[in-house]
Amino acid sequence: MRLLIMGAPGAGKGTQAVGVAAHYGIPAISTGDIFRANVKEGTELGEQVSAIMAAGNYVPDELTERIVADRLDRADAADGWLLDGFPRTLHQVGALEAHLSERSQALDAVICLDVNPEDLVTRLLRRAEIEGRADDNEETIRHRMDVYLESTRPLLDAYEKRGLLVRVDGNGTVEEIGARIIAAVDAFVA
Ligand code: AMP
Repeated sequence: MRLLIMGAPGAGKGTQAVGVAAHYGIPAISTGDIFRANVKEGTELGEQVSAIMAAGNYVPDELTERIVADRLDRADAADGWLLDGFPRTLHQVGALEAHLSERSQALDAVICLDVNPEDLVTRLLRRAEIEGRADDNEETIRHRMDVYLESTRPLLDAYEKRGLLVRVDGNGTVEEIGARIIAAVDAFVA
């Protein structure tokens, strides 16, 4: 199973990615988590991305694409994966396509978590209190939302046209949403 999970900042992608990936026995791969781990460890990559992330901007495509390609080529990802937070630009869509077609692989489905836009900022502000992420302050949250609408939301239309988009209602408890995603994906790939 090769899956993407998409949705606006605060839609719950990260939480659901972990549960859904565990259900299918595949790794959940989050570019945001990879970047945050590198920032925390003070690696060269971390130094390159920390200011960009703190400002709520996107890390350059080539750099992000290289990180993902390396991660997808690791042994645990040989039989499938769920990508959380990648691709975020049309350029990244192209890079993922190229990576897959070189390996005679294809995406099975693109999950889109739909959440009421008014709820998103509230959710992110609550997460800011709990997790203390450097990019979860109100100004950066609003900027990330704008960047998402401008650069990433158009990807949903692209995947919809390709018949890969599985829209799931992202309102409810973590368990309800998780069950909804699995039911929708199972029905889609059947
Ligand atoms: P996330 O945890 O998915 O919200 O990602 C946190 C931050 O990491 C984003 O706001 C970006 O700065 C960076 N990031 C994560 N994934 C990508 C990506 N695919 N392309 C560019 N930047 C990314």
